[in-house]
Order: sequence, then C-alpha cells, then structure tokens
Amino acid sequence: MKMNLLEVSPTDLNYALEQDQNDPLAHFRERFHLPKTDSGEPFIYFCGNSLGLQPDTASQFVNEELDTWKKLGVDGHLAGKRPWLPYHEFLTQYSADIVGALEKEVVVMNSLSVNLNLLMTSFYRPNDQKKKIFMEHNTFPSDRYAVQSQLKFHGNNPIDDLIILTPDDGANITTNRILDYFDQNGSEIAMVLIGGVNYYSGQAFNMKAITNKAHEHNCLVGFDLAHATGNIRLKLHDWGVDFAAWCGYKYLNGGPGAPSGVFIHERHLGLKDIPRFEGWWGHDKSTRFAMSDEFDPMNTAEAWQLSNPSIFAMAPLLASLEIFHETGISNLREKSVRLTNYLEYLIQENLNNKIEIITPSTSKDRGCQLSLRMIHPIENIMDKLHKTGIIADWREPDVIRIAPVPLYNSFGDCFEFVERLEKILHG
Ligand SMILES: *Cc1c(COP(=O)(O)O)cnc(C)c1O
Repeated sequence: MKMNLLEVSPTDLNYALEQDQNDPLAHFRERFHLPKTDSGEPFIYFCGNSLGLQPDTASQFVNEELDTWKKLGVDGHLAGKRPWLPYHEFLTQYSADIVGALEKEVVVMNSLSVNLNLLMTSFYRPNDQKKKIFMEHNTFPSDRYAVQSQLKFHGNNPIDDLIILTPDDGANITTNRILDYFDQNGSEIAMVLIGGVNYYSGQAFNMKAITNKAHEHNCLVGFDLAHATGNIRLKLHDWGVDFAAWCGYKYLNGGPGAPSGVFIHERHLGLKDIPRFEGWWGHDKSTRFAMSDEFDPMNTAEAWQLSNPSIFAMAPLLASLEIFHETGISNLREKSVRLTNYLEYLIQENLNNKIEIITPSTSKDRGCQLSLRMIHPIENIMDKLHKTGIIADWREPDVIRIAPVPLYNSFGDCFEFVERLEKILHG
C-alpha cells in the first residue's frame, strides 16, 4: 500500500473513516439488514461468502408474490406485476451481466449441487482412453461427491479417475502447474471442474488460461462459481468456458437456499442430441402447454430446466440482483480490491507472528476473501470474536475465513476487526 507522509497513516482509524467518507458505494450498506448484537450494535459481518445479508427490498418482493397468489390464484402465472410463467427470466440478464455471459447462456434454477450433476450429465462424456476428471485441491466436499457420483455412474473409478493436484506453494496451486499437467496428461482427461475461487484458500484461478489449455487437449471445462459470482469479474462467454454453476445465497444475497445460476456456452445450445435430463420447463415455451408427447427443447440454457421454479425463493434473489445492477459489478470489484488490500495491510502490520494469510497476495489471484491461518490456534476463538461483535467463519483445523464484501462492508469494519482480533490474541 502506498503511503503519503502528508496524509494520515493507514494504521490510524481516521484513515478508514476517510476512505468510507469518500466511497461512492458506501450508502449501499443501508440497503442491507445487518444482524445486531444484544446491545443493538450492528455486527461486523464478514460472512457474505457463506450467507449474504438480506436486501431491504427482499420482504417486499416476497410479499408481492404472496399477494398475487392470494388475489389471483392460478391467474398469477400470466397476470400480476411479475407473472410467474416468465418469472425466472427477470433474473437472467442481471445474472448474465455478473458472470459475463450472453442472456441465452444463463438460467437460474434448482440449487448448486443439483445443477452440477445436471451439467455433468451433459458435459462429462468419458470414453475408455479419456475418462478422468480434474479438480482443484481442497475442493468443497459437495463438488467432490457430485464428481465421484458421476464417475461411478459411468462405471469409472471414483478414486483413480479423479485427479487432484496437491499445492506447490502453501495452500495454492500455480496456473503453470495446472497447464503443465494438462500438457503431460491431457489425453486422459475428459472434463475439468474447478472452483473459480476456492472456498477454503480464497485462491482465484486463471479460468481463461485453464480453459484454453484444456480445450487444446479436447477436455470440456466447467467451473463452480459459488465463491466467484458477485465477487470477481467473470467473462465466461469470452473465455470460452463450457459450463458453470453458482449459488444464489453467498455473494448474491438471495437468502438461505436461494436458487442457483447456470451458464452453458452458446456452442452447446440448440443441439438435439446432447445427453441431458429433461422436463417440461425445458420445452419450447410457445408450445409447452400444448402438452405434446415429444420434447422440443428451447434453444437457450433454459432447455436444462426441468420443473417450474419456486417463485418465493426467486423473489429475494431478484431483489438483490437489482441492487447489483444499480452498483455495477466492475464498481463493486474496484472497491473490493481496495477493501481487501487494506485489510491485508492491517493484518500484516498488526498481527504479524500471530496470523499467516494463506490466500494469494495479488489481487488478480483472489476475490475479497482472506483465509487467516492461526499460527497458535486459541480455544473458542469464534465465540470470542462473536462476543466482540464479529461474525466470521472457522474452518478446521486452524483457518478463519473473512470476506469484506463491497456492498455492505466498510473500511471501518476492517479496522475494527483487526483491532478486536489483536486484543483477543494478546489475551
Ligand atoms: C457453497 C458451496 C456449495 C453448496 O452447495 P448447495 O448445493 O448450494 O448446498 C457447493 N460447492 C461449493 C464450491 C460451494 O462453495
């Protein structure tokens, strides 16, 4: 971080307050409900990577649909402010903007692990020579279970046919290591599924380079963007990624269990012979209610939909996506980089010898999350943090994950966090 001697030192509270005063996005904090302590103070909430906070418009959006149901019954499918038949479409363009996709490449449906399985049904196409699946180290368990279930489903070996590189540098794997692996072993790999931002270490992978390299070796490439969507800039279409999925309740603030988003590259759309599990919501909308016996898929990612979606689950997500649309994802990312750099700086200045940051130290290799490894773990650290008004997340054996989210976290939050943690660690 650059220091100017004429200005107030970044280690001073006034520096944080000044950053917040000059932050054009600061007022968005008021658009979210911050959980409160027993004494009524807002918590410092650093868990937006796990469950995003409730937008102030969420209850209004849900109530509108309850009201439509009450007043219109079945007619709510076609009438009312936001008819249910195309309700999911209201989320499509906003989601596509956030992940860098064409509108037709995106659909919001189901939840993440369900979607990963549906997508792998289409994009894991092993043969005898080319059947392995490549994943990153410290994969989120659900992704691993999903991948192994696909391997077993195709009669392959869930251990031997799963490739996981162990880190070469602390918790992280360099892009070159992945690319080299493909150059040596690409011929036996059928599919890649990597967390765009790893949930544990916070490492962001070079998705463009990995996609290009995997394609050189005829591997299909998917990303789990649970920790990337709404966090870092994504250009799924331009990068040529084959498929991706993410969840609606982490950085996207759609509420617990909110529906997931799916991306399928244009090149895979409109094909009649693609393997896929199907249902009536994937059928051409103009003839869906003719109830024909023959499935006529839509030419968009919507062909992967099976059922009519839960409107009440989509409503809070739509409320939040409207806020993202107001801020713009590039403005959010710009603030996010500054916020995380500031937090990193304060930790290095004040908690040296106590905490090791395992997340990469360059902005392009991470999102907002920092994963802090406690060099001397102390008991009940999370309870102690909670008592001082901080909500963060603990991962065994010794890692605290903290995510300063640009929509509702402030520079003041970062300052307070480090100060309170320092007090706890100094006993
Ligand atoms: C949060 C998360 C999940 C959760 O899956 P659900 O199906 O939404 O319960 C899966 N994978 C990753 C990488 C995650 O971060």
